[in-house]
Amino acid sequence: MHLLNKLVVSSLPLVPRSVVRYFAGRYIAGETLGHAVSCVRQLNAEGACATMDVLGEDITTREEAIAAREQCNQVLRAITREKLDSNLSIKLTSLGLKLDKAFCIENVREILKVAQEEGIFVRVDMEDSTCTTDTIDVFTALFKEFPRMGIVVQAYLRRTEQDVRTLIAAGAGFRLCKGIYKEPPAIAFQDRGEVQRNFLRLLELMLTQGAYVGIATHDSVLVDGAEAMVRRLGLRRDQYEFQMLLGVRPELRKKLVRAGHRVRLYVPFGEHWYAYSLRRFKENPEVAGYVFRALFLRNN
Ligand SMILES: Cc1cc2nc3c(=O)[nH]c(=O)nc-3n(C[C@H](O)[C@H](O)[C@H](O)COP(=O)(O)OP(=O)(O)OC[C@H]3O[C@@H](n4cnc5c(N)ncnc54)[C@H](O)[C@@H]3O)c2cc1C
Repeated sequence: MHLLNKLVVSSLPLVPRSVVRYFAGRYIAGETLGHAVSCVRQLNAEGACATMDVLGEDITTREEAIAAREQCNQVLRAITREKLDSNLSIKLTSLGLKLDKAFCIENVREILKVAQEEGIFVRVDMEDSTCTTDTIDVFTALFKEFPRMGIVVQAYLRRTEQDVRTLIAAGAGFRLCKGIYKEPPAIAFQDRGEVQRNFLRLLELMLTQGAYVGIATHDSVLVDGAEAMVRRLGLRRDQYEFQMLLGVRPELRKKLVRAGHRVRLYVPFGEHWYAYSLRRFKENPEVAGYVFRALFLRNN
């Protein structure tokens, strides 16, 4: 990252939340379930489907985990009630993964029971490398009982190929992404080209073994590579989908929809929008620059 961009990004916590909120508008559906429902309805009207995410992550008490579980269940009920074309994404740290794994499994089980009643798929997001093994354990503990769930794997991790082979053998489907957390060279590829090559290698492994894949990227090299692979393997449209984050490269999303691919948008919402927005700004310092300029103009 350019030095100036690094400076901008590292000073972001000093920016008033109201300014961050204004620029975060493109990345989050809003603070309430009602905002998220409207956003998904709009995306559905534009030919895309969604996966809804209640913003949360690390919590410190069991009560917070239970509250997060109940919010997830409200989302599932809303998807049915509002007839939305959406599924649900969950983060295990918001459901107690770091407090007690067995407690987390029970919380996820409660969500999966509601999802099963409503006929809705649930995707388990992947967090930083301190959570990888535990996330796979929780997934494996529940997948046989609830087959309408899937997991996320990160192409930057060196371990992922082995994890994918094991998960394919168990019959799992995937969201494949690069990975968003800062991880050390001992466990993660650092070079952009290496991550891209591993992404396409993993994608081919999954698709040739018959796994359903959510191809989660905005990187044109990977989107083009995936489209070429889908053509070469002669896949039908219901054997894979593209996935993108709300607010990122909407023109690419529209192009993929026009080309006839299934496209799913990640729609985060909730009162804990701040940490999520900072992560998105770190990925794109150009946007962070706008935040700074707005701050400067506000004060002058
Ligand atoms: C649906 C979905 C779910 C995800 N789930 C997870 C998960 O569970 N765990 C995890 O670790 N990571 C997750 N990610 C994040 C992912 O790992 C990457 O960090 C992120 O997608 C950026 O990588 P990229 O492949 O888009 O390539 P990049 O090279 O980062 O981006 C390609 C281009 O997209 C544009 N772009 C990228 N980010 C932004 C932005 N924030 N604002 C504006 N433009 C941008 C830029 O034009 C950039 O050049 C998810 C991503 C998606 C799309």
